[in-house]
Amino acid sequence: MKVLVADKLDEEALKALKDRFDVAAEEVSPERLLEVIGDYDALVVRSRTKVTKEVLSRAGRLKVISRAGVGVDNIDIVAATEKGIMVVNAPAGSTQSVAELAVALMLSLARNIPRADRSMKEGTWEKSQLKGIELSGKTLGLVGSGRIGGRVAEICKAIGISVISYDPYLPEELATEKGIRLTSLEEVLRESDFVSVHAALTDETRHMIDAAALRKMKRTAYLVNCARGPIVHEESLVEALEQGLIAGAGLDVYNVEPPLGSPLLRMENAVLTPHIGASTREGQRRTGLLAAEQLIKALEGEEPEFLVNREVLSV
Ligand code: NAD
Repeated sequence: MKVLVADKLDEEALKALKDRFDVAAEEVSPERLLEVIGDYDALVVRSRTKVTKEVLSRAGRLKVISRAGVGVDNIDIVAATEKGIMVVNAPAGSTQSVAELAVALMLSLARNIPRADRSMKEGTWEKSQLKGIELSGKTLGLVGSGRIGGRVAEICKAIGISVISYDPYLPEELATEKGIRLTSLEEVLRESDFVSVHAALTDETRHMIDAAALRKMKRTAYLVNCARGPIVHEESLVEALEQGLIAGAGLDVYNVEPPLGSPLLRMENAVLTPHIGASTREGQRRTGLLAAEQLIKALEGEEPEFLVNREVLSV
């Protein structure tokens, strides 16, 4: 069987695939993907490669697409399902890494770490201008508290932060187990000192944090988004930061990536990272191995645990 690994994959995961299949590991361009996809039985992607309807229309032999990560918004799931192609992912591999980055962004905002570092290197000693706040004693409001949000809650509880969350799909018992009090989006926005977004990107969550939502936040509050860019209406966020409607934002994800020319790039009260939530040695190894394992199961006739389009089994 032929497998195309179209995005960078952990070495050990790649070896697990090479031990079993005929593997090509090549970071293909969108045009090249269209040319070659017809030759493959399986495709491994991260977020760079877009598996569009057009790609799938040329994927005559494809049986499975494995996403080495969580979000499958770069794959046309409906088109894949119609063609009987399984889509599997590796949901838990990067949970700890993303949760730690969200907390790092909270700390960076609270203690002005990027500005402090910059000013030191510019030869200044801004000790008196860099008064921060403690996280302890504050309220964190999560928008979505599944795997990553739940882990952020656990870490934040240890720091002494109270955690509330808006997640209409999370069973109350699971929230309580993680020390989270479930409430409305309205309360999360109004009461939190930090609002951290950890929902999946869906039609319901797209632009959920818009101008009206940002206006409900405290002027002293910070917004963190390590989930997906379009959950936040970026132009409204820029306005809110310019007008001081909120104190600052920590972002790992953007509407368009990279956000070339975005006003966010020159804003002092925005701490920005280039979609590195899952980019740790440990996270990528775990994710790569899980994605490889899921693909192997799918190709060898065993039902993968993380089958995104379960309905494909009845196609
Ligand atoms: P998850 O599925 O475990 O959790 C998502 C949660 O969002 C669920 O509890 C779900 O009930 C909730 N949700 C769904 N619709 C909602 C709505 N309308 N309002 C509020 N909550 C809603 O997913 P996860 O593994 O915790 O991932 C969370 C997010 O992080 C996803 O958007 C994922 O794509 C993103 N992510 C980012 C990176 C990165 O590199 N920055 C890496 C991995 C995952």
